[in-house]
Parts: sequence; C-alpha cells; structure tokens
Amino acid sequence: MSTFQDLGLNDDLLQAITDLGFEKPSEVQEKAIPILLESETDLVALAQTGTGKTAAFGFPMLQKIDVNSRTTQGLILSPTRELCLQITNEMKLYGKYCKGLNVTAIYGGASITDQAKQVKKGAQVIVATPGRMKDMISRRLVDISKIEYSVLDEADEMLNMGFKEDITNILSHTPDDKNTWLFSATMPKEVAAIAKNFMHNPQEITVGHKNEGSKNVSHEYYLVNARDRYQALKRLADANPDIFSVIFCRTKRDTQKVAEHLIEDGYSAGALHGDLSQNQRDLVMTSFRKKQIQMLVATDVAARGIDVDDITHVINYQLPDEIETYNHRSGRTGRAGKTGVSMVIVSKSEVRKIKSIERIIKKQFEKKEIPNGMQICEVQLMSLANKVHNTEVNHEIDTYLENINQLFEDTTKDELIKKFFSVEFTRFYNYYQKSKDLNISASSDNDRDYSSNSKSTRYFINVGKKDGYDWMSLKDFLKEILELGRDDVFKVEVKDSFSFFNTENELKEKVLAFFNDFKHNGRFVNVEVSENRGGGRRGGKRRDGRNGGRRDDRKNSNYGKSKSRRSNSGEFANSRPRRSRR
Ligand code: ADP
Ligand code: MG
Repeated sequence: MSTFQDLGLNDDLLQAITDLGFEKPSEVQEKAIPILLESETDLVALAQTGTGKTAAFGFPMLQKIDVNSRTTQGLILSPTRELCLQITNEMKLYGKYCKGLNVTAIYGGASITDQAKQVKKGAQVIVATPGRMKDMISRRLVDISKIEYSVLDEADEMLNMGFKEDITNILSHTPDDKNTWLFSATMPKEVAAIAKNFMHNPQEITVGHKNEGSKNVSHEYYLVNARDRYQALKRLADANPDIFSVIFCRTKRDTQKVAEHLIEDGYSAGALHGDLSQNQRDLVMTSFRKKQIQMLVATDVAARGIDVDDITHVINYQLPDEIETYNHRSGRTGRAGKTGVSMVIVSKSEVRKIKSIERIIKKQFEKKEIPNGMQICEVQLMSLANKVHNTEVNHEIDTYLENINQLFEDTTKDELIKKFFSVEFTRFYNYYQKSKDLNISASSDNDRDYSSNSKSTRYFINVGKKDGYDWMSLKDFLKEILELGRDDVFKVEVKDSFSFFNTENELKEKVLAFFNDFKHNGRFVNVEVSENRGGGRRGGKRRDGRNGGRRDDRKNSNYGKSKSRRSNSGEFANSRPRRSRR
C-alpha cells in the first residue's frame, strides 16, 4: 500500500490531504489507518514524535463519526494545552470538507464557560487536556457517555506528568464498549499497565523499534566543565549561524536565566516555561514559529507541544532527570523527513548518562569538540560571504550608488571585500581571539570515580528536627526551593537544630547564592559549606553528630571564600562580551 486512497479513506478526507500537500502516508499512518477503518478495535501504537500520529488516529476518527449527529463521539486526550490546540487545528484541517464537523478544544487557562458553549453547539470531537476535562465532567458541562472512540495521545507523557488518576476518572465516564486508541513514543511500564487495564485485546503496531529515536536525528555530546556550560552553548550557536533550535534546561529558573543571558548577549532568544502567563507563552511561540526567535529556551513540560518542523538543533543544556525524556527532546528535530542534530552539553559527572541514553535510543553518540574561536570566526565569515553572494540586489539602492561609489573611488574590489567582511569578522575575532579551549577530557584526573566524595560539596544548614524536619522532608524542601532534580541533594543528615546535606560541586554556586539572603517562615535560613565530607572516610559521620559540630564546621568552612565567589563566578560569568548580534 502506498497511497492514502489505498488505505480506504473517503473523498472528503482525500481532498483535504491533497490540500495539505501530504503525498504519501507515513509508516504509522500506513499501519494504523486500515486497522482502525476496518475494525472496531482497541489499538496500541508506538511511534516517535514527528511520525504523523495525529493523522494516524485523526483520519479514521473523522471517517467513522457521524457528522450529522451532534453527539460527542470522539474524545482525544493530550498532555498539554499547546498539543491540544495543535491537534484541534490539525483535525479541523483534516476535516475541512466534512460538512457539519465540530471539533472543540478543552484546556486549562481559558474560559471554561466559553468552552462549554462550544461543546453545546454539538461538538462531535473533543480534544482535551486531562485536568480541564475532569473539571468539565464534574460540573456536567460535557457529556461523554456516548463516546465511541477515545484516543490517548502521548500517553507516556501524560502519565509522566501525573495524569494517571485524571485519565482513569475520565474514562470511567465513557462507555465500556468504546474503542480506545493509545499512541505513545515510548512504552514504559505505566503505559503497558494502562493498556492492560483499560483496553480489550488491543492490536499493537510499532514503528521502528520501541523507544528508538528518530532515524533523522544524529546525536552529539560535548564534554565541558559545568561552569563553562553557557560559554559552550554560545559557541555551539555561533558555530551554526543558521541555527533554529530548542534549548532544554532542567528547571524554570535556569530556563529563564539562560534565555535572559542569550538576549543580553545579542542572540534572538526567548524563554518558554510554566511560570510565564499563557499570553506570554503564546507570544514566544508565535515569534518562534515565525523564526523571529532563533533559540527557544524551554523546560521539558513547556516544550512538549512544540511541533515546529524546521528545528535544526536540539541542545540539551542540561540532561533531563529521567533519561527517557531525552527521546522527547531530540524528537523536536528531525521531523517531517528533515534531518536534525541533538547536542548534549555534558559535565564529567553526567557523562555516564550518555551510555544509558545510547542504550535507550539504540544509537551512538558522537563525542565532539566545542569549536575554538578561530573556527567560529571562519564559519561566521563564510556564512556571511554566502549570504552576500546569494542576496538579491535591491534596486532601491541605485539612487544612493553615486555617493557610495564616490566614497570608494580609490578602493579596489579586493580591498572593498576585505573591509566589508571585516565589519563582521572583527566583532567575532575580538571576542574570540583570547578565548580558551572549553573541552575537557573524560579521563583526566580522578573524576572517573563517581562514588568519590571529592566532587560533592557538603553543606551546613541551620534548620533541624526542632523545625520539624526529618531527612526526607528536608531533602524535599531543598529540592523544591532550589528547583533541583531527584538525585541532586543527597546525604541529608538532620540533627536537632541544624543539618547537613550534599550536592555535586557544580551546584555549589547556585546553592550558596540562593541562601545568600533567604528567609523561610520569617527567619533567615543559613547555609554554609561544611568541611565535613559526610559519610566519607575521614570519620565524617561521627563529626557531624557531635555536639557543637556546628562550630567545628564553621571554623573549618571556607565560608569567606565562597561568599566572595558568589558574586562574580559561575556559569554566566563573563557572559556579556558583545551585543548587537542581528
Ligand atoms: P507526531 O504526533 O507523531 O509527533 P504529527 O502528527 O504532529 O506527529 O506530525 C508531524 C508533522 O508531519 C506535522 O506537521 C504534520 O502535518 C506532518 N505530516 C503528517 N503526516 C504527513 C504525511 N503523510 N506527509 C507529509 N507530512 C505529514
Ligand atoms: Mg503528536
């Protein structure tokens, strides 16, 4: 089978497909559409992002529902508002010749009454995020008791985001004999459990290998010191002048910071994360789609819905907590048959994660070097030369040509070219001429010993059992306020009125900066570096536990040193060398 016609789609849909310019079905479409059209069955479909899953369930659903009825017959659940809107949009495009079709989006952050009105008009298909859908059901603003087809799109992601209960709740309001079609990029245990508990003998299709990354994406990693992350990011951007990229950070705060620094440094960048208002997020996405923003810095959750097709690079500024998430990130590029590169900026302490990711995506990373200053100057120069060469002459200039010619009367073509290009070249050259090599080797010094304490910092904090903490709650508290990942705070030991904890050294600046002036429940929470390594060989445990341990630790701490470091070091130091890039 090779055409949409062969798959059994009707003329209304085929017409829309022609309008959309889809020439032939993608693999998941080729496999799923005939099954869904020909039988009333449940289905589990595993396929990477960007493989055309929306149409794989969208076409059959549109063909099977009755547009002459105003009953809600199809329900599509998706993890985020952005995705929900995208699917709604696509469904409307696919169904533009299906007369009477009404597709309604239901998602948080917008008026629930407006959405209820839309539904009431007779929406045959509802595309919803789980949270708002549950809300609407409990307020009786929707009736899904006659649903015939339900789709769980990006099921792995929905479960990842904690929607399991909402989904269970929503499905309990739908008829038992409906068909459920589950689409997912990966198949973790939780998704398998959903398939088992909510579906009846689902047919299964897999495109590519389970959990395998897109064929069109190549994977690269760059090993640098954690403090050089930001410099490395800039070089990667400078070495790719036509970059159109999503840059992933782990926390909202880092996302915001990296974006702000890029903007200050003259890049066309924007931030996308959950602390922004819906309106701000929409604005950023619009600019990104229009390519007014070249570098979109995003959190995993906020970026979930992005289906921009021309993304050239995904840059992992930090690796995600869950390595499975890497697949979702890299799937933002290499879409719709194009090729893309997924780059990881990695510090020594994380480099072992690369191996785990390779096992999951079943592809090898290429270890690459951050380009040096002169390489970047060369790339920029040649890129400009090509741009100039390919530029169409704007004849509005003719009027001024005489004056310009006069100015350059004594300049030869050779000289003129040199001068012209120096304008751009000198800017990069001045910035990069004294730049250092950012690459480090994985085998230098003893950093391979990941269990060693030498790479973690032990801190003293002036809260303890008296303040109601045990090790778990203190760990949670620290992780939350510092916006850290699951394993970032460790060796937490809680004493009566003080405690100790560890983080990797690379988080030290961040931790100290955060507690520089931090009040909780009305009192200052003080954190200092403790000389004590904690659980280490040098009897750390005993010393921690000793009365007066606090004073010991203070005496030995490098508090003074770290204080002065806070102000002018860290990954963003020296990050403002130039402006006016574009
Ligand atoms: P997924 O849900 O698998 O991530 P989408 O359904 O969002 O993928 O599709 C990715 C992109 O590919 C969209 O822009 C979509 O319009 C386009 N697309 C889908 N099917 C085809 C096709 N058969 N031919 C060309 N482009 C397609
Ligand atoms: Mg999709």
